[in-house]
Amino acid sequence: MNIHEYQAKELFRRYDIPVPEGRVVHSDEQALAAAEDLGGERWVVKAQIHAGGRGKGGGVVIADSPERVRQAADRLIGNRLVTPQTGSDGRPVQRVLVEQAQEIAQEFYLAILIDRVSQRITLVASDAGGMEIEEVAAREPQRIVRERVDPAVGLLDFQCRKIAAAVGLKGTLLPQAVKLMKRLYRLFRDKDALLAEVNPLAVVAGDRLLALDAKMDFDGNALYRLPDITDLRDFDEEDPKEVEATGHGLNYIALDGDVGCIVNGAGLAMATMDAIALHGGRPANFLDVGGGASPEKIANAFRIVLEDANVRGILLNIFAGINRCDWVAEGIVRAIRDQAIEVPVVVRLAGTNVAEGWMIMESSGLDYLRAEKLDDAARKAVEAVKGAAA
Ligand code: GDP
Ligand code: MN
Repeated sequence: MNIHEYQAKELFRRYDIPVPEGRVVHSDEQALAAAEDLGGERWVVKAQIHAGGRGKGGGVVIADSPERVRQAADRLIGNRLVTPQTGSDGRPVQRVLVEQAQEIAQEFYLAILIDRVSQRITLVASDAGGMEIEEVAAREPQRIVRERVDPAVGLLDFQCRKIAAAVGLKGTLLPQAVKLMKRLYRLFRDKDALLAEVNPLAVVAGDRLLALDAKMDFDGNALYRLPDITDLRDFDEEDPKEVEATGHGLNYIALDGDVGCIVNGAGLAMATMDAIALHGGRPANFLDVGGGASPEKIANAFRIVLEDANVRGILLNIFAGINRCDWVAEGIVRAIRDQAIEVPVVVRLAGTNVAEGWMIMESSGLDYLRAEKLDDAARKAVEAVKGAAA
């Protein structure tokens, strides 16, 4: 689960990680008041969306008067911001963060993440912080240094010193960096984070290290034990279909193809997506209805899949182990009747009570394509979608 920059900075503050003073505001008038309240001569106005690259997209504005702060906020709030990370539709901006602008002497990159290869929490840093970190990673990978954390002992001081020295932090900045890294690690561990990223970590006036940007991502499976983090969730930043699916106990992830998938079991759902791709099609979603899919769940699954306007056909693939094909068939019949489905539906049933399942399907008089095997089902779905498009 991602959170906004201002929320991540609030967490940083709680862990004594230095961040600029700032106020999050929802209107241009509030932005003006925030600038006057903060004082100083220059401010930075930052669009709060769950996507990076805001600097490149015009979502980070330096203003040299409270009136300019107001104008920047007015331009950002209520509009969509397009950045290299949002896609061409951009994301709606509902609030901005107003901070006192800092004089930046140098920008570093610092992150704590989970490295899947070593299966270790890993500290990552670079002297090439700022907006071009992706290009640096691609062209000059040697400028990015890493340090793996041994879970038995945690992040040790010498590892922080090593990383800090490797990116060229010297003098009084070195102990500041060590402290900051250890605090960021503590936050990461306490809150079951998947990512804590500071880019830029800046050297500002008075030889101080300051986190000018903050990005955090948390493990959704740990939210049940972290109410303070759960509270930071912003449903407006999520696909409404995914939010709705979670509420119905369905595991749904929107994709950009046109073959809607309704499958029981995450592994089978992945295999179904692969089979669709193998036959030249593109899945519109991942959807795992789970083990004990009731007729209601199947009906909800149809509704959520069909909310995606790109869907031109549905592949329903059920391998009933814990599940029962007759329950699933009842759900399909109910869904197709109640929802006036206008796209072709391919049904593949296998496993427990499969004969009863097909009986319900056949006697329903509904229009659908029957498939016995996964490969056959995927081929029929892709053909049906191509036929519907033609
Ligand atoms: P991102 O582009 O979404 O990652 O947003 P950032 O928060 O990283 O801001 C983009 C860039 O704006 C940073 O890399 C900085 O160079 C610049 N920036 C951010 N805050 C300040 C500030 O207080 N003063 C100055 N001069 N530049 C800033
Ligand atoms: Mn940044």
